[in-house]
Amino acid sequence: MARPVKPKLVRESPKADYFKPRGIPMSELEETVISMEEVEALRLVDLERLYQEDAAREMGVSRQTLQRLLTEARAKVADALMEGKALRIEGGNYILREGAGRWRCGRCGDELPTPPGRRGRGWKCPFCDNP
Ligand SMILES: [Zn+2]
Repeated sequence: MARPVKPKLVRESPKADYFKPRGIPMSELEETVISMEEVEALRLVDLERLYQEDAAREMGVSRQTLQRLLTEARAKVADALMEGKALRIEGGNYILREGAGRWRCGRCGDELPTPPGRRGRGWKCPFCDNP
């Protein structure tokens, strides 16, 4: 049985969730799907220039998990750029900060009544968390 995946903390969501190369009709367009967590790893390491260790702490994941998210994200972005694919940012298991003091679970969509609680290395949503 697969180990349950703990939600990752995402502090900022991208301003757009779809990127499409110019001049390619939708019918011929190939799509790459990148998760919110993968984009957050990119943001923290490549944009905010955090050390991977600090980025991992921010998201509440292990260093290995952060490394995996980052490698996936970079490969997907590079593939989309080189192959002229569209990029769709979608899905994953995360808790998103929606503004000052507001958090929403990316899995169940519920707004959290309080800031997400920390448990061990991960974060949890009170609505869809398994004890
Ligand atoms: Zn939830």
